[in-house]
Amino acid sequence: MKILHDYQLETIQKITESIHNGHHSIIVQQPPRTGKTVIMAEIARRATAKGNRILFIVHRKELVDQARETFIDQGVNINLAQIGMVQTITRHVADLKQPSIIFIDEAHHSLAKSYQRILTAFPKAIKLLFTATPWRMSGEGFETVADKLMVGKSIDWLIKQGYLAPIDYYAPKQIDTSKLKLKSTGEFTDKSIEQAIKPKIYGNAVKTYLKLAKCKQAIAYTYNVESAKKLAKAFCEAGVKAKAVSGKTPKNKRDQIIKAYRNGEIDIVTNAELFTEGLDLPNVDCVIMLRPTKSLSLFLQFSMRAMNPRKGKTAIIIDHVGNVERFGLPTAERQWSLTGSDKKTRQKQAGAMIKGVTVCENCFATFYRTGDTCPFCGASLTEEMQLDVDEKAELVKIAAKHRVELAKRIMSDVVTQNVAGKAPAELKSMKEIIAYGKIHDYKPGWAFFYGKKRGLLK
Ligand SMILES: [Zn+2]
Repeated sequence: MKILHDYQLETIQKITESIHNGHHSIIVQQPPRTGKTVIMAEIARRATAKGNRILFIVHRKELVDQARETFIDQGVNINLAQIGMVQTITRHVADLKQPSIIFIDEAHHSLAKSYQRILTAFPKAIKLLFTATPWRMSGEGFETVADKLMVGKSIDWLIKQGYLAPIDYYAPKQIDTSKLKLKSTGEFTDKSIEQAIKPKIYGNAVKTYLKLAKCKQAIAYTYNVESAKKLAKAFCEAGVKAKAVSGKTPKNKRDQIIKAYRNGEIDIVTNAELFTEGLDLPNVDCVIMLRPTKSLSLFLQFSMRAMNPRKGKTAIIIDHVGNVERFGLPTAERQWSLTGSDKKTRQKQAGAMIKGVTVCENCFATFYRTGDTCPFCGASLTEEMQLDVDEKAELVKIAAKHRVELAKRIMSDVVTQNVAGKAPAELKSMKEIIAYGKIHDYKPGWAFFYGKKRGLLK
């Protein structure tokens, strides 16, 4: 049985207060790996201890058993608890006994018909909708399913308090994100991922791991079973003990792999599915992402997989596929809201109101830039390193700067050479002022006004 942390008890307290204040359906936002199931179990324990029934809905088969185990461990009266997968429950709604509380896990899916049928069947039940990401790509809000949004502690706060490990995020990009195409579900197609990923990706992923996270136990997420196998092979060829696991791996083999990982005999497990049944690896200290995603929920679950805390640990996240360009760093402060909004605003929310993420070209460390040097390796940063995603204007600006950099390097023009290192006050003619303006990407009007001010333009 797990003892609840203070912030988890505080969450339960707030939920109780909201219910007393008349809220019936509450979205409870909690970042991944912060004990959502334990919180739900504690509420369920209290409810069933008073003789109330609860219903707990998950959206994947593998999670049913895990949830049931946690509920039993935490002292829930399991005779009063129905735990099931949404597809099963929704077909048997008419046979269910009236629950007093309905819990929904991964509730960002809760607008789907299968969930709606269950929720509307029990109008009197209290609904607690748990998710790390109350956000939908479509821009639809949750006001039709919930009357309150409770935002949990930020990832940053959880790290500072020691509930999550701090991270170092690296983005040595091995993919051309412009080639990615979307499926109707909003995710990238496998075919476009294949076209976008550079052929050397597996070898490069191995080299990067050796450079940044050698000897650390890692999990690597790939985009399909085949790529998981290729990656494991590439690691083995480099002398790193790696195994690929998929939904098709027989249970006894999977158990062997987990045991070997736990004993430190395997360094890396490669895997194409987040929820491979029973793949509950302990002590993951490094995540390697080779799967691009459009889903903020998946991104946070992938990247935060290494963030279970341990004394002195810093989790290493290696993002080969540019996911950080879409979502910002996992630690970014995000703004959640119950109401829907236009697509652009939603994209910004997903990317944590995207401040451009900077990737150091020397060490691939990824961070929100505060100065002119890389906080990881001390290399000096140039303007082009900024990865801006949403702001078209910014992209143009970077492109223009890039041309100026080129101009500086080439320096074919004598006048340009002369003015490059000078301050404006040192410029001696209109020709020099115009050249200076070009180098620094000033608007054409600048040379006119400055020339006039200096008395060089009559
Ligand atoms: Zn650096």
